[in-house]
Amino acid sequence: MNISVVGTGYVGLVSGVCLAEKGHTIACVDLDAAKVAKINQGIPPIYEKGLEELLQRNAGRSLTATTDLRTAVMESEVSLIAVGTPFDGSAIDLKYIREVARQIGEVLRDKQSYHLVVVKSTVIPGTTDDVVRPILEEASGKQAGTHFGVCMNPEFLREGEAIQDFMYPDRIVLGGIDERSNDKLGEMYSVFPDVDKLRTSCKTAEMIKYSANSLLATMISFSNEIGNLCAALGGIDVVDVMYGVRLDKRLMPIMPDGTRVTPSFTTYLEAGCGFGGSCFPKDVKALIAHGRAAGRPMDLLEAVIQVNQQQPSQVLGLLRKHFASFAGLQVAVLGLAFKPGTDDVRESPAIPVVNALLAEGAVVSAYDPIATHEARKLFGDTGITYHKELSDALAGVQAVVILTRWDELRRLPGMLVELEPQPLLVDGRRMLDRQSVARYEGIGL
Ligand code: NAD
Repeated sequence: MNISVVGTGYVGLVSGVCLAEKGHTIACVDLDAAKVAKINQGIPPIYEKGLEELLQRNAGRSLTATTDLRTAVMESEVSLIAVGTPFDGSAIDLKYIREVARQIGEVLRDKQSYHLVVVKSTVIPGTTDDVVRPILEEASGKQAGTHFGVCMNPEFLREGEAIQDFMYPDRIVLGGIDERSNDKLGEMYSVFPDVDKLRTSCKTAEMIKYSANSLLATMISFSNEIGNLCAALGGIDVVDVMYGVRLDKRLMPIMPDGTRVTPSFTTYLEAGCGFGGSCFPKDVKALIAHGRAAGRPMDLLEAVIQVNQQQPSQVLGLLRKHFASFAGLQVAVLGLAFKPGTDDVRESPAIPVVNALLAEGAVVSAYDPIATHEARKLFGDTGITYHKELSDALAGVQAVVILTRWDELRRLPGMLVELEPQPLLVDGRRMLDRQSVARYEGIGL
């Protein structure tokens, strides 16, 4: 199938590359000419494990990138919209969605054959039916359901595991305005024959995505709230508590041979310095705003956001227990990405922590295996030095703060023991054994 994908960020590029790998012919469209040029040379503009290899195999063959939306839509039968849907502080900002819908609609005016337009971006329930469809109809002068189809197909990939998640999905949700639209989208996804597919309306598909993200965010804030109480009560470690909670056989089922299954969602039941990224914070806030507008305030989700906003400050509080002032304090900040496996720093808990340290005069020694380039755009170079080697970041510091659960940070106990005097370690992700480091502080301890 010939498919155009508009927006080549994490979702658009990964979808395009994976669909090309699965045998489709893909035209990736983006406004950003530099991104387009990179993609055509087989250079991924973002970091995602396995992306470079798949891109190099498909770029210039089954996948091309372009800034020319008209030709890409004309020459394809399906267009996926994968542009950003930021939260503007009071509601979801649909300006990119509206703009792309209008541009596609204008092309459809001149297109004779049936075309399917699919919203892949995360949009608030009702957006595809009440915003995208009318814009397409107005710009094309044609009728949805007759001349073209419209679908909503939420994307569930996780940054850091995006290729794996797209290639081996757990479910595919096909929301369509009619059977014909869903049939066409089903044809595109026929390359995933063994995956559970849910056929539903656009509005339900939109709500599934928000509900899924809200549930995971709730699990994280729940774990953090329990952790904060453990710390306040004293004598209880949230790591032990949440392990005991997870041992419930409904969360970690026991197999007939006595072994445990550890579903990956149990990783959301661990305390830490909070969730970030381009999805959870903005999606939960957008749903709250939508609920409020609909006269249904969402008290639980409000609390989820509130707990999360306070969580990075727990790390600073643990530092303050040992240092009366941050002025001149030499601190290694380990992990700048919002989670391991990605270079994405959007809404990373590292942002408030590093900003507070810098504002109070600390001297920050930063290390992240892949997100340094992105972080530097945020923090600049004043008061902060970025290191390529973990060992260099530790030299001469009085405190070490872990903010991202990068696997390589498990080497820290062996490295810290070599240092004299021993720095304080603040484990914002509770990833190290608290006994493995001489001076240890952790969230929920
Ligand atoms: P992104 O910001 O990384 O990428 C968006 C891209 O769209 C950019 O490259 C931008 O240049 C391009 N763009 C904007 N306007 C355009 C236009 N008019 N024409 C062509 N290109 C245009 O965004 P993302 O992280 O890939 O997210 C996209 C959507 O998918 C969002 O709604 C997001 O919530 C959702 N989503 C993201 C993830 C994730 O892990 N990042 C997962 C699931 C769903």
